[in-house]
Amino acid sequence: MLDAEFFRRWMTAAAASVDREAAQLTALDSPIGDADHGSNLKRGFTAVREVLEKEAPGTPGAVLTLAGRQLISTVGGASGPLYGTLLRRTGKALGDGPEVSAEQLAEALRTGVEAVRALGGAAPGDKTMIDALVPAVDALGDSFAAARSAAQAGAVATVPLRARKGRASYLGERSIGHQDPGAASSALLISALAEAAGE
Ligand code: ADP
Ligand code: MG
Ligand code: MG
Repeated sequence: MLDAEFFRRWMTAAAASVDREAAQLTALDSPIGDADHGSNLKRGFTAVREVLEKEAPGTPGAVLTLAGRQLISTVGGASGPLYGTLLRRTGKALGDGPEVSAEQLAEALRTGVEAVRALGGAAPGDKTMIDALVPAVDALGDSFAAARSAAQAGAVATVPLRARKGRASYLGERSIGHQDPGAASSALLISALAEAAGE
């Protein structure tokens, strides 16, 4: 079973990996965006780490809803409301019990990803974070490590796609040949989840 401490470890691992990879995420956001994805997420996840330390929420659901609210209020770019919605809606779907199963988490994360799709209107193949998140959720039934591999493969598979949502879509054909920064950061988020699980 997964307790609040597990979810805190997930968010802390995500913050550390965003710190480490911020320059790379911003570099991906330069040819097909406005070169701020790394700094956006660094600001957001630093604030998440701080608020989780300060408020120490006691259930899995409360950890993720607080983290999501914090991302929404601290990240100005498109990714803030999208990742904020992902975590907030996943947290809500986890309910208010002290522990959840891996199956419950997989189901809740699917609800969260659906909420991101509803908010941003992106479908798989539109070259967004959805292209890493959907395969990750599909693989989560197998293991956390399988979800990590699926997210990474999904992120790499955005390279030949033409962007249909977000800032990169303004480039049309010229968005082809570059990895989507949000798909890359989603792969980091799912990798941090596997790390929290010790996989
Ligand atoms: P901004 O584009 O406002 O500068 P970021 O650079 O932080 O925001 O985030 C860009 C990422 O957000 C993109 O790489 C993409 O993955 C994701 N994104 C943008 N718009 C959408 C959308 N409508 N649906 C899903 N993801 C989106
Ligand atoms: Mg940007
Ligand atoms: Mg921006």
